[in-house]
Amino acid sequence: MAKSKIKSKSKNKSKVVNKSKSIIKTKAKRKAAIKVKTKPAPKKAKKYVYFFGNKKADGRAEMKNLLGGKGANLAEMTNLGIPVPPGFTITTEVCTYYYNNNRKYPRELEGEVKKNVKKVEELVGMQFASVENPLLFSVRSGARASMPGMMDTVLNLGLNDSTVQGFIKRTNNERLGYDSYRRFVQMYSNVVLGLKSENFEHIMHEMKEKKGIKFDTDLDASDLKELVAKYKALVKEKLGKAFPDDPWDQLWGAIGAVFGSWNNPRACEYRRLNRIPDDWGTAVNVQAMVFGNTGENSATGVAFTRDPATGEKRFFGEYLINAQGEDVVAGIRTPQPINKKQKTDPNSVSLEEAMPEIYEELVAIYQKLEKHYKDMQDIEFTIQDRKLYMLQTRNGKRTGLAAIRIAMDMVDEKLIDEKTAIMRIEPEQLIQLLAKVFEAKEKKKAIDAGRLLAKGLNAGPGAATGRIVLSAEKAVEESKTGPCILVRMETSAEDVAGMAVAQGILTATGGMTSHAAVVARGMGKPCVTGCGALNISYSKGTVTVKDKVLKEGDFISIDGTTGEVIEGKLPTIPSEINQVLVQGTMKPEQSEMYQRFTKMMKWAGKYKKIGVRTNADTPEDSRVARLFGAEGIGLTRTEHMFFGGNRIDAVREMILADDVEGRRKALAKIEPMQKEDFIGIFRVMDGLPVTIRTLDPPLHEFLPHKEEEMIELAEKIGVPAEKVIAKVESLKEANPMLGHRGCRLGITYPEVTEMQTRAIIEAAIEITKEGKTVIPEIMIPLVGDVNEFKLQEKIVRDTADSIIKNSGVKLKYSVGTMIELPRAALTADQIAAHAEFFSFGTNDLTQTTFGLSRDDAGRFLPFYVENKILKDDPFQTIDIEGVGQLVKMGVEKGRKARPNLKVGICGEHGGDPRSVEFCHEAGLNYVSCSPYRVPVARLAAARAALSEGKAKAVDE
Ligand code: PEP
Ligand code: MG
Repeated sequence: MAKSKIKSKSKNKSKVVNKSKSIIKTKAKRKAAIKVKTKPAPKKAKKYVYFFGNKKADGRAEMKNLLGGKGANLAEMTNLGIPVPPGFTITTEVCTYYYNNNRKYPRELEGEVKKNVKKVEELVGMQFASVENPLLFSVRSGARASMPGMMDTVLNLGLNDSTVQGFIKRTNNERLGYDSYRRFVQMYSNVVLGLKSENFEHIMHEMKEKKGIKFDTDLDASDLKELVAKYKALVKEKLGKAFPDDPWDQLWGAIGAVFGSWNNPRACEYRRLNRIPDDWGTAVNVQAMVFGNTGENSATGVAFTRDPATGEKRFFGEYLINAQGEDVVAGIRTPQPINKKQKTDPNSVSLEEAMPEIYEELVAIYQKLEKHYKDMQDIEFTIQDRKLYMLQTRNGKRTGLAAIRIAMDMVDEKLIDEKTAIMRIEPEQLIQLLAKVFEAKEKKKAIDAGRLLAKGLNAGPGAATGRIVLSAEKAVEESKTGPCILVRMETSAEDVAGMAVAQGILTATGGMTSHAAVVARGMGKPCVTGCGALNISYSKGTVTVKDKVLKEGDFISIDGTTGEVIEGKLPTIPSEINQVLVQGTMKPEQSEMYQRFTKMMKWAGKYKKIGVRTNADTPEDSRVARLFGAEGIGLTRTEHMFFGGNRIDAVREMILADDVEGRRKALAKIEPMQKEDFIGIFRVMDGLPVTIRTLDPPLHEFLPHKEEEMIELAEKIGVPAEKVIAKVESLKEANPMLGHRGCRLGITYPEVTEMQTRAIIEAAIEITKEGKTVIPEIMIPLVGDVNEFKLQEKIVRDTADSIIKNSGVKLKYSVGTMIELPRAALTADQIAAHAEFFSFGTNDLTQTTFGLSRDDAGRFLPFYVENKILKDDPFQTIDIEGVGQLVKMGVEKGRKARPNLKVGICGEHGGDPRSVEFCHEAGLNYVSCSPYRVPVARLAAARAALSEGKAKAVDE
């Protein structure tokens, strides 16, 4: 149908570069950033720096808005007595100040930073910038909402050729000194000075080759010292100036770079995808370094307190001996499992085995943290010479499956209540549970036929089939024409746009906590990581597994639930929930997922206030929706029924008829078929209201468009071909969306409304006679003036009343209207004096309020959204400021004229969680959406009711 619904998801088509807030791009600007620029601070002096250390912190967990997630949680852990290296957090307010004041800091900042550096020095007994006993810092970002890996970090800050000597002397570990130093020079040069990491990796690679070694841990102190010299020479060569030696310059450079990274393109893109406001800003955390790279007695790791893919209650993570933070996530060496249970490779050595006493301590801490935060935690730790330090805790990102399981388990464990559990699940995550899986038999066949290429880690559940793409850019391109799987050695923040459009993600390296795994889970994408058997050549565009060579563009299938990677396409089947609920091919007791889903839906039903109906045009759609909990039908588009079987011929005959008689003759052929449809729908919806809309679209949409089809039609209905061609021509409209459609059809061709009313009422009488309860609601579309409604209402009532009277059956029905034109909303009081119910048709209401064609907006709307001209695609999420005002006004005026006016919404927005929240707040009686979105809307409705009057929760 030409009157298509806009489906253009605001999937990123290209990376957004936030031009309004420029990024530190040029060398000159970077240089400038190192200088501490100040500007008079606002009158009332604020606290800009919050200290944490020695079991006492200035901040606490609730202060995320000010301290960012990382800073607030470091403070909280410190207060809980958990071992956290001391440090301080520069607030997000400094970040906003920095951007609002031409990259200058408040005047007090410098003094506050100095004071806090001193406090750290006193606690650890070292001095920053001292040659004898140097204190080193890590400098990390940390926004309110977690943005994993999107912003910058600098470790080992404070080293130079002199301080490194003091550091070596104190630690008695020359290798540690130069390993930390080379890491620092590389990181700082990359993050602060803007040099690409590849430059340094290349030098490292050359050295490893020359020495014939594989891992960086095999490099000795003198190799690492040589690396430092080479790295620094490279900086000089590339930038024409020496690497900054003064630790204070380094510190301010790193602070400026972290603030600057708030606006780097990948952070902007991540914010756009995750709807994080640009003006939140990041905090900066400056913390005393602890070293996981002192040798075999040190390590660093990341872990989840429950399985983030399945939600299973098991401690789960990865670590690396003799390493620093970034090594685990970046896939430099294969991380080892945290505990024995996790082991799949007998040669791996878990932390539980390598350092049992530290493992025990870590277990005690994670349990304490989970109990305290009452949510699954994602933690980072470092072990320095067998002493454990916690570096981060945050609520872990998880799949939809895991979200439900964790929330429900925590209710059983009495950690949280039902209401909290509901608030823990994002409505959209339910869609993941309803997503397809591979057909077991077909998968087995493929495996038996030798198509199993490899097995990796099951990092993000679900099934995906698509063409191989080896870069994010290719993914963006390819996804326009078909499904693709993004295959990478590992992913980094630059790949986020490609990941967002790919069906699934496959990486050769990296573990369950790698960037790919974390981001994919957040997006709900199937993901397989650490698939070491893959040999990827970006330059040749190939993926080789043993002797099999696949090319970019070949099909591949990944099962993120099992980690299997299969050559070629594989058919998918409905999820377990569908198999139990809709198809009946699985028993409820066979599916834990189904059981949890239904329980969660029951809870949602208990707390939600607004009703959830469905848009359904067939008995099958109605059945499915009812199984998913629909409380009625909010919209049946009768025109959709005109296309089935050979009905279209009769419809065309009706349109081509010259007069009323001709039209009636053709309508008589359609009528029994319409009635049958309504009978089917009423039967499944026994006891629930069914809103049926009279004919809406412009008539020419039903006519053939090609000449040969017109000739064929003419033959079929026995009319001269020229007549058909001329009629089609005469029905063409310059602007059909604003033309002869909606109630204007029923007004000019009353016999159509008559026929439809007869079909509805006769069907309702038949079903009532079966002993069922039918609640028909007849809805008039595209009303702009009350007179239009009155005319149509009269036809409906005259027709219906006489049929009901003659039938002797008691049947109640109501007549209402869609509100989908601004004028209807503006004159809602007049209309409500006659209409018994309203249903906001927000597709057309958005179209007519914006003057934005539903059929053509896809050409430029994505650009508008990407460039933040509009916050959201208004066809997906209701435009609260504009269209929303009309809705509110319509409800208010309507209810003034008719206090018991029933009001719903049946535009696409009825299934969008944020729009559902708006509808709840606007006092609508129900939302109506497509059958498979009913669970999403029900959960969104419950969340709206539970968060009523509360400030919006900040997702950490
Ligand atoms: C609407 O306009 O919102 C609506 C539900 O009707 P349709 O999409 O069929 O125009
Ligand atoms: Mg409409």
